[in-house]
Amino acid sequence: MIQLVKGTKDIYGAEVRKWQQIEAKMRRICETFGIGEIRTPAFEFTELFVRGVGETTDIVQKEMYTFTDDGNRSLTLRPEGTAGVARAYIEHGMHNDPQPIKLYYISPTFRCENTQAGRQRQFHQFGVEMLGSYSAAQDAEAISVAAQLLEEMGVTGVELRLNSLGCPSCRARYNQVLRDFIGSNLDKLCPTCKERYLKNPLRVLDCKEESCQAVLADAPSVLDCLDEECTAHFEKVQAILKEMGIAFVVDPKIVRGLDYYTRTVFEFVSDGLTVCGGGRYDKLIEECGGKPTGAVGFGLGIERLVMILEKQHGALTEEGHTDIYIGSMGEAGQIKAQALTWQLRKAGIHAQADTVERSVKAQMKYANKIGAHYSMIIGESELAEGKAQVKHMESGTAEEVAFEDLAAYLCTATEQAE
Ligand code: ATP
Ligand code: MG
Repeated sequence: MIQLVKGTKDIYGAEVRKWQQIEAKMRRICETFGIGEIRTPAFEFTELFVRGVGETTDIVQKEMYTFTDDGNRSLTLRPEGTAGVARAYIEHGMHNDPQPIKLYYISPTFRCENTQAGRQRQFHQFGVEMLGSYSAAQDAEAISVAAQLLEEMGVTGVELRLNSLGCPSCRARYNQVLRDFIGSNLDKLCPTCKERYLKNPLRVLDCKEESCQAVLADAPSVLDCLDEECTAHFEKVQAILKEMGIAFVVDPKIVRGLDYYTRTVFEFVSDGLTVCGGGRYDKLIEECGGKPTGAVGFGLGIERLVMILEKQHGALTEEGHTDIYIGSMGEAGQIKAQALTWQLRKAGIHAQADTVERSVKAQMKYANKIGAHYSMIIGESELAEGKAQVKHMESGTAEEVAFEDLAAYLCTATEQAE
């Protein structure tokens, strides 16, 4: 038996129905925000992620699924969604269109991580990217998409944590302050952070090793290193969120796992688990070869959202339904049943008929099992008369309905039931 790969999952049955509901909600909310969908390829040139996500990040250093194709090109399965969208924005000259460009995606994402609760190797992200604006209003708009989704899904107790990393010069200043602070404690950092210390000490803040966290427990705040403009930008983001009624806390320890963030960074946390992370990335488009373009976005892990929903609202049960089961007796009956079922389906009715040649008794047992609301049986006399008894399964009552009236009969009946 070949089993599925560690860190991957089959999603089916009641669970996939819940996913479809969640995805429908995401799509509907994006419609109201004027955010269009984008579908980028599942793999890109490795270089895009190395440049876009950043060489000193966990993702690039140890989490990418990278392979070489027959043309000896290095390709990588998408470990996050923003870099691909940035590439598409540049490649299709979207900067020539009226700004901002607002895009969303719901896509499988791949990271070679140790698997544990809330951490898979293939997971799914709902991502939103808003490109073409430097304004704090754009940050607030992006954040409000995630806030609305979590609110509409009925998720409670999520905390929005907000921080600003400033522009590259603020960041350079803060990096130096951090280097000075870590100074004599360098030997206490994990091996990866020892390397990061010189190139990008900010990353140490995001390290999950306890020893590194201990060293940085009383680290100076990045907010004290922001220049006037970056401070004003961050304050405006907060002012808009306040006016929108979106609660948040400022947490100067948040840096997020990607190198491209500038100014605003944020995450939504529930029970210690980050369900959504994002921020502003004003340098990414340039880094990828485009014109200077302000942008902001987030990625929300759908598996984590499902986990939280299950915890707060119990197991996900979202059953399908069958309006009618058309049983049959004999070959002519079975032929008619299939044809009639198809007619009903074309009218939007959830109809099922026998396709495994069960006995009539077994067919009715099956109709019960799948919870069909109505059932009927086509035998010789029904065929001859062109009508049959349609039984309401719950009450046991039945009515005679001509085959050609069946669709109309069921439509009225289901409408009345609703
Ligand atoms: P973490 O700190 O949990 O590792 P991250 O900083 O790597 O998160 P992002 O790169 O910002 O996360 O990804 C956005 C969201 O995608 C996360 O908030 C989370 O919900 C989800 N996510 C990230 N990695 C995984 C994974 N391995 N399995 C499932 N979901 C994930
Ligand atoms: Mg991570």
